[in-house]
Amino acid sequence: MLVKGVVFYLESNLPSEAKFLLEDFRLAVNNAVRAGLQARVTSRNALVRIAYKDFRQGHPKMYSQHLVSAFEVAGSVLNNHRRRARKGVACRIPYVKRLMMKAENQAYRLDRKSGIIDLPIRAGCHVELKLVVSQYHRKYMDDTALSLGSLTVLPNRVIVAFRKNAPRQYAPESVLSLDTNERSLDGVFVGGDVAKVVKAEFSEVAIIQLRHHDRRKRLQKKKARDRRISRGLCRREGTREHHRIECRLHQVANAVLKFAEERRSAIVLEDLKGFKSKRSKELNRRLSMWPRRKLHQIIEYKAQWRGVPVIKIDPRNSSRTCPICGRIKDSRMGAEFACECGWHMDRHINASINLLQTAFSKGMAGGLRFNPGAFQHDVMMILYDPVTGARSEPNGTSGICGVT
Ligand SMILES: [Zn+2]
Repeated sequence: MLVKGVVFYLESNLPSEAKFLLEDFRLAVNNAVRAGLQARVTSRNALVRIAYKDFRQGHPKMYSQHLVSAFEVAGSVLNNHRRRARKGVACRIPYVKRLMMKAENQAYRLDRKSGIIDLPIRAGCHVELKLVVSQYHRKYMDDTALSLGSLTVLPNRVIVAFRKNAPRQYAPESVLSLDTNERSLDGVFVGGDVAKVVKAEFSEVAIIQLRHHDRRKRLQKKKARDRRISRGLCRREGTREHHRIECRLHQVANAVLKFAEERRSAIVLEDLKGFKSKRSKELNRRLSMWPRRKLHQIIEYKAQWRGVPVIKIDPRNSSRTCPICGRIKDSRMGAEFACECGWHMDRHINASINLLQTAFSKGMAGGLRFNPGAFQHDVMMILYDPVTGARSEPNGTSGICGVT
């Protein structure tokens, strides 16, 4: 089952009954967290057993399904706490500060035509929340293949979970192999008798990271006397940075998936798991793995949702191997990979060719064949260009970048 959370804003402010409910919910969560810590339990059922009665006495009218889902939230808070404690990370006793509540799909009703949520508060008291429904939201509201999951209510917005069964992956007719770099996805596309070099650039991501890093440093210096304020401001910077980067990564991922879906391609990516670098702190920040991992996450998730096959390949030696003669170079080279056998190619493209060959040799991409030499004197297809936004060039006549 795949779940996609969609954010909706409300047409008017949250009614006061709903605000009280959020506060009660938070209280229930924090009570259950305390009780769970004392009794050393984390499961929802165990929490219900030890904390339900007490809370019920103080709040006799609260809708019982909300209370149960409060225990569920408390359970996940406790699980996170336990995981951190096991890792040896110093942490305080968890306390939920943010106002929120979660309702399971039996505990609310959403009219998908009008966009009105009927949320029970307590016996005999319901509130109606009118959602702002845009074209983007309509896509999910009108899709009958999607069922409703849980509802999360926050002070200024709600998140509705839409669920569907994972669609069957199509049998690939072509392959798109991508090497993930700090500023771009570089790779090759092979299908039928077409073999092309492709590129999707996201160079702004590194620029945004750098800009926010500088800003955070400046803030820290400026507010050095008040750690509380400096921390708050830095956190805000961090949130903004993440939003801005994620927005760009989503655009890149959409362009890649549109390209792959139109050509019924399988997508080959390197497996970034366990990719640990032992570089200095400064360099680590600059070459942060986070955007790349995030990009893979987004691509994989969207691919699952649309039934696009994704193949993950262990990237070991992929940037040092010659795809023609199989020689493995000792050291990394400059922008171009050159081998004694005469093969030379852009370093990133070379890596993606190696990923593709590994996928082929493991029989993971059907009966497709390709000849690495075909890429050598070709124009590049641009999957995504930050200047013009998402687009693809099927014939490679515009947005051309020459490669040797
Ligand atoms: Zn060679």
